[in-house]
Amino acid sequence: MKPALVVHGGCAAVSEEEEAVREAACERAADAGWEVLLAGIGALEAVEAAILRLEDEPILNAGTGSYLQADGVARMDASIMTGDGRAGAVAQVPGLRHPIRLARYLLEQDAHVMLSGQEATQLGLKLGHESGVVATPQKIAYWQQHMTDACLKLDYQGMAEEWKHGHPRLGTVGAVALDAAGKLAAGTSTGGTGQCYPGRIGDSPIIGAGTYCSKQVGVSLTGVGERIMVLLSAKRLCDLVASGNPLEASGKAVMEEIETMATASAGLVAIGADGGIITLWDTPFMAAARREKR
Ligand code: ASP
Repeated sequence: MKPALVVHGGCAAVSEEEEAVREAACERAADAGWEVLLAGIGALEAVEAAILRLEDEPILNAGTGSYLQADGVARMDASIMTGDGRAGAVAQVPGLRHPIRLARYLLEQDAHVMLSGQEATQLGLKLGHESGVVATPQKIAYWQQHMTDACLKLDYQGMAEEWKHGHPRLGTVGAVALDAAGKLAAGTSTGGTGQCYPGRIGDSPIIGAGTYCSKQVGVSLTGVGERIMVLLSAKRLCDLVASGNPLEASGKAVMEEIETMATASAGLVAIGADGGIITLWDTPFMAAARREKR
């Protein structure tokens, strides 16, 4: 089996200059994951390696670069899954440099799929995972400039209205890999939609919503989590493929389902068991990078 890897840096509408920076970040992460795959190590390790790198990119909305919630604190979500049905996820964890590492730990332990909040952070620190001051000058400035009443009033339409004026708080990261043994893995990590009500959880840590991986396909989504999580879009894509639909058509069907909902936009990356890669998005831009052996 020829290995394959795809990473994304979130769907968004950003300046051309920022597009290039996000793309370069994805290329670096793809290199990190690809190196793991070429060394004959597994898809799970490759996905983690790529996301670790993405979580260190201040321009992206995950790990170090996470957007801040309405109270000025970054609380992060992440999930990871393998084709054999193992999964790990963390929701609303503050103060960790690499939420994906804790998600992977949960996957390996196979005792609980998801942990949340301070308790999850404490576990990560106890395990020796690095703490992180998650508040870059850029994201603090963003928070100061764009914090509106709508966020604390839970006025979603008001928040969505503001996004239309060029401030979409998206930029979640994700990766999917197929290794030489034919195994798939997928993962997603995010600071959420930013400015949101403290404690808000999006699609990214929800297995089946932002991330899913079957034996036939692995997928990571980005976009408006409130819509993706009720559609369980990642699982839906895997189910469509399981019913015999081609990967590309399944991806497009999932995107259409999301687009039928109000204030929805999204992007996804996926890899099928034959190594086929798809990248789809409906925002002006989504950073992505792929590696495959021809
Ligand atoms: N899907 C993420 C969330 O809703 C945001 C993003 O994709 O940037 O938390």
